[in-house]
Amino acid sequence: MKVYNTLSGKKEEFTPIEDGKVKMYVCGPTVYNLIHIGNARPMIVFDTVRRYMEHKGYEVNYVSNFTDVDDKIIKKANEEGTDPSVISERYIAECKKDMESLHVKPATTHPKATCEIGGMIEMIQTLLDKGHAYVAQDGTVYFKTRSFPGYGKLSHKNLDDLRSGGRSLLVSGEDQKEDPLDFVLWKPKKEGEPFWESPWCEGRPGWHIECSVMSKKYLGDEIDIHAGGEDLIFPHHENEIAQSEAANGKPFAKYWMHNGFLNIDNKKMSKSLGNFFTVRDIGEKYDLQILRFFMLSAHYRSPLNFSAELMEAAKNGLDRIVTCVSNLNFLLEKAGTEAMSAEEKELAAQAAELAKKFDEAMDDDFNTADAISAVFELVKFANTNANEGSSAAFLNALKDEIVTLTDICGLTVERSEEILDSEIESLIAERQEARKAKNFARADEIRDILTQKGIVLEDTREGVKWKRA
Ligand code: AMP
Ligand code: ZN
Repeated sequence: MKVYNTLSGKKEEFTPIEDGKVKMYVCGPTVYNLIHIGNARPMIVFDTVRRYMEHKGYEVNYVSNFTDVDDKIIKKANEEGTDPSVISERYIAECKKDMESLHVKPATTHPKATCEIGGMIEMIQTLLDKGHAYVAQDGTVYFKTRSFPGYGKLSHKNLDDLRSGGRSLLVSGEDQKEDPLDFVLWKPKKEGEPFWESPWCEGRPGWHIECSVMSKKYLGDEIDIHAGGEDLIFPHHENEIAQSEAANGKPFAKYWMHNGFLNIDNKKMSKSLGNFFTVRDIGEKYDLQILRFFMLSAHYRSPLNFSAELMEAAKNGLDRIVTCVSNLNFLLEKAGTEAMSAEEKELAAQAAELAKKFDEAMDDDFNTADAISAVFELVKFANTNANEGSSAAFLNALKDEIVTLTDICGLTVERSEEILDSEIESLIAERQEARKAKNFARADEIRDILTQKGIVLEDTREGVKWKRA
């Protein structure tokens, strides 16, 4: 399995630190709002990386944080006249709902920055003790960037270039820095902000130290994969490497993976341009599996353009797979239990060859675009070769290949609980009859059957209304 490593700028053979185990950290969102569809991209692509690794037999310890202390959270809390934790808890809960709709598996651990302050103070103290940090007069603690010889190795930047082009590096409080390249590890509290006690001043941590500490606590000093969007390469991940390696004295992450950006109609997504979509916005129009399918139809490192037409194309593409599986199920209902004929055995072997293309694509730096093309080839093959004369064993073999591969992509293409509108209507009519006859047990039973199939009933003055949940 080959993985593109931002650190080396090359595809490298993946060999985990510990045989059969993968330790993976993915930078999570800052929780002050509903997540947008750009935030959904790293969630979906790295969840797919995780699923594929699990499919290959690795045990994956997957950690993804929530940044729950930040200027934007504090600003929103002040606007609403509430505590920042009320805001962050609200949006963590909403984010988890969106992840579920996108079929993103919960991480092994979802640490929150505010619960890890003790570890941050400890790591900052280690950096001070080792001469990699210093305390300014106002109590701000800075990382001494030039004290870490490897600085710039991830973003392939050189310190002197950074210094000359350094305007963007100047952050608030820089007047007390010894060098414009230095960055904040701990900053003093301001009026109306949450703060914690520390040996240096009452204050709060800088953003970068959070991830170094949470990664160390939940995965150890050395991990296999550290991932996030490409905007995090510099300075966030560069700073994480400097902090972790300077404090722990060991290499931090073996592979650094970064997803490309999602744009809208070829423009950067922004609220001011009016082209900003939350996952929830898209969920009002589409089943969010379609958004997932859309994201995976491109390679994760490429920029990805979002548009209404491309979403429609993704909808049609996913429908083709769902329809194929539903046809196979229809044929299976009539097929009996006979074994495969010699000719079918030959065809099943051909289908297995097509399925191998999926693994080959995924082994090549998780090329989900080619992997999905392999699924489409299988669908075409099944549509051509499965028919009313097919044996159950053959139909099942085809179906299993498609379902296994789409499962790795986090897509559910078998809608076994599907219920037709006409079936719903007739069950509702039967329920009305049962109620008239005071057979409430049967009426309740019907409501339960419908609930199980995701149908919600509402008794109104005009009669019974229903919708799919
Ligand atoms: P943030 O909450 O801004 O820290 O972002 C959380 C994650 O979403 C990070 O990994 C970002 O790199 C990623 N991200 C933010 N915007 C986009 C975008 N438009 N396309 C792809 N990834 C993004
Ligand atoms: Zn991070």
